[in-house]
Amino acid sequence: MKKDIRSFGYNELKKEMEAIGEKSFRAGQIYDWLHVKLADHFDEMTNLSLKLREKLSEEYEIFPVELVERQISKIDGTNKFLFRLYDGNMVESVLMRYRHGNSVCISSQAGCRMGCAFCASTIGGLKRNLTPSEMLGQIYHIQKITQERVANVVIMGTGEPLDNYENFVKFIHILTDEHGLNISQRNVTVSTCGIVPRIRDLAEEKFQITLALSLHGSTQEKRRQLMPVANKYDLTEVLSACDYYFEKTGRRVTFEYSLVHGVNDTDEDIRELTAILKPRNCHLNLIPVNPVKERDFVRPSRKNALNFKNKLEKSGINVTIRREMGSDIDGACGQLRRRYAEEEITTDET
Ligand code: SAH
Repeated sequence: MKKDIRSFGYNELKKEMEAIGEKSFRAGQIYDWLHVKLADHFDEMTNLSLKLREKLSEEYEIFPVELVERQISKIDGTNKFLFRLYDGNMVESVLMRYRHGNSVCISSQAGCRMGCAFCASTIGGLKRNLTPSEMLGQIYHIQKITQERVANVVIMGTGEPLDNYENFVKFIHILTDEHGLNISQRNVTVSTCGIVPRIRDLAEEKFQITLALSLHGSTQEKRRQLMPVANKYDLTEVLSACDYYFEKTGRRVTFEYSLVHGVNDTDEDIRELTAILKPRNCHLNLIPVNPVKERDFVRPSRKNALNFKNKLEKSGINVTIRREMGSDIDGACGQLRRRYAEEEITTDET
């Protein structure tokens, strides 16, 4: 297979071009085509000689993501995108329009092997890791077709980013590099189910990105019932890794908590959550669980969710309920990709 040119960092690309006998300023031009002008093909790079473009396309490939479907919400302008990767795997991404700018949610893996009970993305298991280029490609494609600047990036789509650690770290470097889109690290959030050693590694990278930890249960036992990863890492270890991340980066950690009616929305949960969160400089994001067809989890009523939030606030916890976006399109996480997979199965069978 040809080399994946869009996954090279700025300095790596310089070395790569030197190795094939090109001057270093050429690397700068190519990097600019790939990461600023967002070119998908070498023949777009018109300030390079035809000979160089041919040489590049013999040895390298850009591996662009290809748009398969786009849905636009009539309620709030949220867009959902289904992209095909070079090998036929599908990933989905979401564009949300906020007053403070456009935010793109990307996938980090095709499928997922974490097995969380309420999540649609894990149902077919993990297909493969995405390359840095394929994570960037989702953002680049969206910026290109909307012609609007992407201000914030959240890695909260399909996949567990810290289960694809090396590619994820490279992706962050390229995304926030001043020679590329130059997105501020403070505008990037990565969500993890809690792979403890990788959270500690990430703290050492000294990025300024926000860490969001999927908590979902207020005790080790309750968390274990929803998230198989909790069998591997005890809640106390997860929390101390989050503390370590805060210590090393100064970035306040966000805890995510999917509210499931009758499972984790009781007064006891409030007491236990308060004990966990009160001593920490953190933020809690409540997500009324998105119903997934294959699962029978139910979200609490709006009133109960507000009640849950208010009680936590009264005990001094910094808490928000995540605003639901694009509820009229295949809204919930991973559902567009799931629907597509199902349609393919049905077509194959008939
Ligand atoms: N693997 C990462 C990213 C997953 S998606 C992680 O586990 O954090 C981002 C968030 O959405 C996670 O907190 C995840 O647990 C949550 N989520 C997944 N399915 C959901 C659903 N059906 N309803 C509500 N939240 C869900």
